Amino acid sequence: MVHRTFASSRRTTGQASVDILENWDRRPRAGTSQRPNRDRIVLCGRAGSRSTAQLPRFSGDRSRNKDNAESRVNGQGQGLNEFGLEVPIARAHAASHNRVMTPRELANSICETLRSHGHEALLAGGCVRDILLGREPADYDVATDATPAEVMALFPESVGVGAQFGVIAVQRDGLKVEVATFRADVGYSDGRHPDTVVYARSAKEDVQRRDFTINGLLMRHDTSEELDYVGGQADLRAGIIRAIGEPDRRFREDKLRLLRAVRFAARFGFTIEPATIDAIRRHAREITQVSPERVRDELTKLLTEGAARRGFELLEQTGLLEAVLPEIAALKGVEQPPQFHPEGDVWIHTRLMIEQLPAGASPTLAWGVLLHDVGKPATFKSARETGDRIRFDGHVDVGVRMTQDLTRRLRFSNDDTEQIVALVANHMRFKDVEQMRASTLKRFVRLPRFEEHLELHRLDCLSSHRRLESYRFVRRTLAETPPEQIRPPRLLTGDDLLDMGYKPGPLFSEILRAVEDAQLEGQVKSEGEAKDYVQRGFGRAQCEAAEKRPR
Ligand code: ATP
Ligand code: MG
Repeated sequence: MVHRTFASSRRTTGQASVDILENWDRRPRAGTSQRPNRDRIVLCGRAGSRSTAQLPRFSGDRSRNKDNAESRVNGQGQGLNEFGLEVPIARAHAASHNRVMTPRELANSICETLRSHGHEALLAGGCVRDILLGREPADYDVATDATPAEVMALFPESVGVGAQFGVIAVQRDGLKVEVATFRADVGYSDGRHPDTVVYARSAKEDVQRRDFTINGLLMRHDTSEELDYVGGQADLRAGIIRAIGEPDRRFREDKLRLLRAVRFAARFGFTIEPATIDAIRRHAREITQVSPERVRDELTKLLTEGAARRGFELLEQTGLLEAVLPEIAALKGVEQPPQFHPEGDVWIHTRLMIEQLPAGASPTLAWGVLLHDVGKPATFKSARETGDRIRFDGHVDVGVRMTQDLTRRLRFSNDDTEQIVALVANHMRFKDVEQMRASTLKRFVRLPRFEEHLELHRLDCLSSHRRLESYRFVRRTLAETPPEQIRPPRLLTGDDLLDMGYKPGPLFSEILRAVEDAQLEGQVKSEGEAKDYVQRGFGRAQCEAAEKRPR
C-alpha cells in the first residue's frame, strides 16, 4: 500500500487521509517512509526519501541501482522534474521534441568538456552517494582540477556562486550543476566557513575536506567507476555516518556538520558511529554559531524528508535539540490527561505527529505540527491543582506567542510565520466545529491554506485519542457545501452603505460583517434583502435622516 502525501487539493487530501487512517497500525515506523506516490502533487519540498531497509544495496547489484536512478529521470520520470515533483505536461512534451537535458546529462556533459580539455573531472559527494543508493540525487556536483577561471572560460553560461571557495555554477536549460575545483579548506575561525581555500592537485586530497565518508565518494561520469579514498563505500553498505578524519576537528571547523550528520542519519535510516556521535554531543552547544537561517533550513529539511521523528530523536539524544529548539526539548516529561492523550507526554505526542509527516510535506505544515503544543509546558496544571484533571488552560495563546518568538529567531519569512502561527492558533478550534454557527464554520474553513489546518488536526487526533468525528464533519461540510456558499459574492459594499445614508466610520465594517454573517447563515440572499437587514439591525432613523438630506 502506497501512502499518499498530503496534497494541495481537497479531494486528494481526503484520499491521503483515508489511506493513512486505514493503515495506521501498518504504517512504517520512523525512518522507513516510502517513496511518495507519483500520481499526486506534493505540496512542497523534495520527494523521494526512502529508508535503507527498502533500498537496493549498491554492492551486489550496482548496475540495477544505477539503472533505477537513471530511469526515474529518463523514462518513467517524464512529466516529473529532477526532484520527483510533477511538472506541467507541456514541458514534458516539449522535452520529447527538443528534449530537455536531465541534471545527470548536464553533469556528464560538463565532465566530458573538462576531460576533453585535459582536465580531471569527477562526479562528487552527495550525488555519487545517491546514485549508489538508487536514489535520485537532489543536485549534481562535479569536482575538477581546473581552476575557477578555467571552468568559466570553458562554460560561458557559468557564474561564480562561491568563487572564493572555487565553486562555479554551470547553468543550462534551467538546470544547474556546481563545479568545484579540488581544494583543501584552511582555518575556520567563524565556525562555519574556511578562511582560505588552497587548491589541491588531486581528487584524493579534495575529499578529505568533505564532511562524512558517504559524502566523500567520487565517480567517473562515463564508466561509473567509483573512487573511494575515505571508506565511504563500506559505510554506505553498513549504513553508517562517520566523519572523515578526526570528528572533533571536523565539527569544530564547521558546526553546520552537526545538523547535517543527524539529517543524513535520519534520511537514510543510518546510525551515527560512536566516535562521531560522541563528538556531536561534545560540540552540540556550538551549533548556535551557525546563522539562524541555515539552522532553520536544516531543521526544515529534517522535518520534511520523511523521517522527522528519527531526526528529532537524534537531535534530542545529541543535545542539539536543547541548543536549537529549547521550546521543543521542554515538551519532554510534560504529562497529559490520559483520557485525551493515552499515548503519554507532550514529547511522545509530538513525535507521533511528526512521524506521520511524509517526504515532501509542506514546511509550514511541518513546523505547525512541531509547534502546535509548544505552549503546554508553561501552562501545565496538575490534577491536584485543578481539582479534576491535568489542564493546559491558555496553552494556545502562550503557544502563539512562543511561536512568534521562535519564527522571528529563526528568521522565517512573514508569509511562513503567518501560516505557522495560524496553525498553532487554530488547532483547538476543531473540537467546536459541530457546534459552530454556519457563518463561523464557513469563516473557519476559509482560513488561508485550510487544508494544512485540517491535516494538522487529523494528525493530532491520530496521535492521541484517535477520534476523528470533527475531522470527518469538516470534510463532509466541505464536500457538501458548494464553494459559492462558503465564499459567496458580496451583497453590499461600503459605497452601498454610503448611498443608504450611513456615515463612514468603524460601524461600517461591523455592518458589512453582520451582512456577510447573515448571508453565510442563509438569512439574506439578495442585495435588497441585505439592505432590509441592515435597516432592521442598524437603525432606520439614521437612514431616514439621510434620505431627507439633499443629494
Ligand atoms: P543533499 O542530498 O541534501 O543535497 P549533499 O550531501 O549532496 O546532500 P550538498 O549540500 O549538496 O549536500 O553538498 C554536496 C557535497 O559537498 C556533500 O556531499 C559533501 O561532500 C560536501 N559538503 C557539503 N556541505 C559540507 C560541509 N558543511 N562540510 C564538508 N563538506 C560538505
Ligand atoms: Mg547535494
